[in-house]
Amino acid sequence: MDRRKFMTHGLLATGAVSVGKVKADTGGSENESGPTKKMKYRKLGRTGLKVSEVCFGTYGWQHTPVLESAIEAGVNLICTCADYQSGAAERALGPALAKSRDKVFVLSGIDCMRNPDEQTLLRRLDQSLETMGLDYLDLYVPHQADTMENVTNPAIPAAFEKMKAAGKAKYLGISTHSGQLEPMLNKAIELGYYDLILCRYNFMEYKSQLELFHRAAEHDIGVIVFKTRAGARETEVKALEEKGLELSQARMSWALSNSDVTSVCAHFSNFGAINNYLEAINTKLSFNGARLLDQYRQAFDSSYCRNCASCTEACPHGVKVADILRYKMYFSHYGFEKEAMERYAGLPDAQRPSPCETCSAPCEQLCPHGLNTRAQLLEAKQMLEMA
Ligand code: SF4
Ligand code: SF4
Repeated sequence: MDRRKFMTHGLLATGAVSVGKVKADTGGSENESGPTKKMKYRKLGRTGLKVSEVCFGTYGWQHTPVLESAIEAGVNLICTCADYQSGAAERALGPALAKSRDKVFVLSGIDCMRNPDEQTLLRRLDQSLETMGLDYLDLYVPHQADTMENVTNPAIPAAFEKMKAAGKAKYLGISTHSGQLEPMLNKAIELGYYDLILCRYNFMEYKSQLELFHRAAEHDIGVIVFKTRAGARETEVKALEEKGLELSQARMSWALSNSDVTSVCAHFSNFGAINNYLEAINTKLSFNGARLLDQYRQAFDSSYCRNCASCTEACPHGVKVADILRYKMYFSHYGFEKEAMERYAGLPDAQRPSPCETCSAPCEQLCPHGLNTRAQLLEAKQMLEMA
């Protein structure tokens, strides 16, 4: 799908949306009648793997029964990381995978923002395989590749070649949260050895990603997206909260309306999420769904940090604005308090927002969305430093 065609695909203004209402389900409750819709699959670029349109994300997850039900419902892609919850996500995956290894593709790796060397990558892969009780990973993906140096780290392809030769990993990808994801992932495409890319994508900020994803598709590189919830703040607006289920389906339908996207990585907080995602996969974005996305966009336009990092260069103190605001989002809106605090604690002191207390906030001048960055950072500091 070309950029123009996609742009006219998911937005209310174009009228190119179905007027059918999204069927509501029980949302947060356990579903006793089983899935009502079938899973759909897309080819993950040149890997040739047929993966489910929704991927089971394990950040903040440790609840095995939900995963088992999701697999029964057709979810066959599981995304994890050795560093999620200090290893707890991989440990929790072990028992579930023992029963269903042949039904799923497993994606894992380690955080790579400190440019691990080849030996570290190989050693940590062995640890991951042992933790999950696996012989191999389908998809080896270093996470948090947040600088160009991370993406081009020569240890990654060197280690991967050894993993592949030993039968411990089949395909290589790269994942980033960076605000500069377009140049970085374009570089990843150009390097030629990455088979898939993972990054954020949502209806609040997406235009520059359309070309990137299309270029990836032209190179037969799979695209897995996350953060489609755009901050998950619907409970702050009554009209949106009442339509919470419909909004969550609209967000996923919107992301999947781009045929260059292979799969959406999502959090399965409960059994109801399975049917909710199946409904979204099988439903075109409705007129009402598109209107809810517009309402959400208007409500949070000037308070949602897009992680764009445009303000970074304005800070004389090197505060990690985008990362800290992301951890604040995990804490406040995702319910991942412990994980958010751990991530914040992992930042060097010099990158934390202590200097904001006495600063005139030049960063705010560079924020294209008008965020009150200083106040948000101080709020983040208070919540993430709680004992
Ligand atoms: S308020 Fe000042 S110290 Fe804080 S991030 Fe902005 S520029 Fe940096
Ligand atoms: S505060 Fe604004 S400029 Fe800074 S990363 Fe967030 S959206 Fe971008």
